[in-house]
Amino acid sequence: MSDKPEKFIDENGLRLDGRRVDEIRPMTVEMGVLSRADGSCYLEWGNNKVLAAVYGPRELHPRRLQRPSEALVRYRYNMAAFSVEDRIRPGPSRRSTEISKVSGEAFEPVVMKQFYPGAVIDVFAEVLQADAGTRTAAINAATLALVDAGIPMKGLVASCAVGKVDGQLVLDLNKPEDNYGDADLPIAMTEDGEITLLQMDGNLTADEITKGIEMARKGCEQIFAIQKEALLSKFGTADEEELLKEAELQAEVATSEDESEDVEVISETVSDEIQAEDDEPEAEDDDEGENTELQDEEEAFTDDEVGDASDEAEDLFGEDVSEFEITENAESEDDSSSEPEGAESDEDEGEKNE
Ligand code: ADP
Repeated sequence: MSDKPEKFIDENGLRLDGRRVDEIRPMTVEMGVLSRADGSCYLEWGNNKVLAAVYGPRELHPRRLQRPSEALVRYRYNMAAFSVEDRIRPGPSRRSTEISKVSGEAFEPVVMKQFYPGAVIDVFAEVLQADAGTRTAAINAATLALVDAGIPMKGLVASCAVGKVDGQLVLDLNKPEDNYGDADLPIAMTEDGEITLLQMDGNLTADEITKGIEMARKGCEQIFAIQKEALLSKFGTADEEELLKEAELQAEVATSEDESEDVEVISETVSDEIQAEDDEPEAEDDDEGENTELQDEEEAFTDDEVGDASDEAEDLFGEDVSEFEITENAESEDDSSSEPEGAESDEDEGEKNE
């Protein structure tokens, strides 16, 4: 056609859109964009705009399609009628049927279908704006939508195409390269490097195919990085780090301090246990109507005992702890004097007997 550029790569090694031969187009992703889907992802890659939505695992109807030992993964690729310059006839076409089939198979090694026998996982990839490389863009979005839906997966899948223009291999074809280039080699792979989709349009030598696959591998590595970044920003590392720190702190407290500290750290979940444990000395469960008994217990500590306890607390924790811990430390005295252990084991036995 007359639109065919004379040259795809200039003397500086730059392509028509300014990229180098081994560069992918800028990609942005946003997860969880559809509230009714179990998982979703909106992805822009160059001028491609793709929305992926995952529904399921859910019961598959009609039942005769159900697989007794695993889930059925259905993948539907569709180009919106308005996604290209000339309107596309809505509905499935031979092209979209083929792309749906091969793209669904690209997830075969990673989706752990065995966890959902009889169920179906529906993946919809809607191309809103097409500009070459839509099947690869859709696979990249679908991966994140699957993760967003909480589908157990062994890893991610990334996809990009390699082509040939001006006798050179180029990564991630743009529209003119796709339309007028010598070859188009879309590839998808797992993080382990297992190729899960490989198609080819045009002509490449065996050597070019090998090199092209290596080039695609590098492109996929960049895409994995983008996908992981999206996952981290969605599911948050900062919080995780905080939680981890908190857990570490708690672990330290639990190991370095005596059982009375555990009583502070562990709250509601073990309160029943503590309650049972503390028929004698506990002051935490006052609301249970044992106030008088507990008060008696507190009163039973002499000034000297309380003084010793607070001195010890000061040694351990510094001054600020001493005040609030007088009752607790009184308990800790108790605890450390091996009584609570005995009490505990008694209770344990009691529980077991019950
Ligand atoms: P991919 O989008 O995966 O590269 P193709 O190589 O088949 O798939 O298509 C290349 C590009 O051609 C598409 O991204 C889209 O921009 C355009 N295209 C594909 N099918 C049509 C169509 N039926 N009408 C108009 N443009 C199309």
